[in-house]
Amino acid sequence: MTPDAPAPTPADPDLVATALADLEALVAHGPRFHGTAGIAAAADWLEGRLAAVGLPVAREAVSLPGWQPGTVHRVGVLAPVPRLLPAWPMLWSGATAGAVTGTVEAVGPQGLWGDSMVWQKFVVRDDAGLVLGYLHARDGGPAAPQPLPAGSDREVAHVAIGRLDGLQLTEWLGDGRRVEVELEVDSGPVDAAVSDNLVVDLPGTGEGRVLVCAHYDSFFNTVGAYDNGSGTVALLHLAERWAAAPPERSVRLVFFTAEEWHLGGSRHHVAQASADELDALDFVVNVDGLGRGSFLEAFASPEAFSTAFRQAVLDHAAETRPGLELVTRFPATSGTDDASFLHAGVPSAFVTFNDLHRLHQPDDEPNEGIAANVVWTVPLVERVVATLRRPPRSPAPDFL
Ligand SMILES: [Zn+2]
Repeated sequence: MTPDAPAPTPADPDLVATALADLEALVAHGPRFHGTAGIAAAADWLEGRLAAVGLPVAREAVSLPGWQPGTVHRVGVLAPVPRLLPAWPMLWSGATAGAVTGTVEAVGPQGLWGDSMVWQKFVVRDDAGLVLGYLHARDGGPAAPQPLPAGSDREVAHVAIGRLDGLQLTEWLGDGRRVEVELEVDSGPVDAAVSDNLVVDLPGTGEGRVLVCAHYDSFFNTVGAYDNGSGTVALLHLAERWAAAPPERSVRLVFFTAEEWHLGGSRHHVAQASADELDALDFVVNVDGLGRGSFLEAFASPEAFSTAFRQAVLDHAAETRPGLELVTRFPATSGTDDASFLHAGVPSAFVTFNDLHRLHQPDDEPNEGIAANVVWTVPLVERVVATLRRPPRSPAPDFL
């Protein structure tokens, strides 16, 4: 820090304790996987908290073709060196016919969430050459499940493995070794999965209208404190603050379900909205994943809005957090709910304190680092909602 830089304002310990207590109350409902009892219980809890400050909640049911992860997801390397690999079924994976054995072949890069992430893919075939399934090796960190891209073969097993295990497979294959694995997965389709978007409208005292959102669903293998209990609690605290002191712009708050199911909740919300309703929105701010640490990603589109948004984050950080490391990326990635709005031509912004070692992990549990970042992000969102101008609308999104 330079001598004349402002001293950081430490997060108010009472606010941090409140955020941590709320996060713990939210995750006490268990994993909030779309279509499960856990997310239904969390929705009731959120609705109760919002009702307690006089805010009515409108529910939008989001129904998607169902899928269950099962309980068996085993990848055992048999040769060249026997070893069990930590593994998770990818969302929409099919099952194997019990334990099956096959050989591994490298396929190449695999884009997920568009090209937001690029992993390495391997195919597993039996002796007759029949495809038994695919292994998806992450680009960084331990094995973590993600939704399969459109067009994936849902009849066969798809298993996520960690980056280092992927590198090991690549090494063996590059060395001309035969890599043999045993695969057993019991996930697959079930009836429709339904849960609700929760919508809260806060009339403003002046002109303008903004939508602020966070997804409250989690992956199946985690209570998702960082992804995205943190954004859920930030949205709840924004609702409580705006219930006490109305914002100038009108604000629609949406707690989305099924973000982890390729943005199912936000795509449903956008599809239901009329062209006039979408046009009335000055912009959208999406809070997804306030993990530990001081590394903030803030992406927005279109470009002029991206630059204005970045400056608002820098101004907020200059006053409150000189050590913040900020990364902006343009165009924004398509890996979270703001993409649904951007695709419909609505200027959109997204913030995350990315924490890839906790992403979609069973140990994504509440901690003070998350709570402190919730407390820091709430006034950032208030500032953005209060100060950023309505960006000019681009024509329909270009092809690329
Ligand atoms: Zn998320």
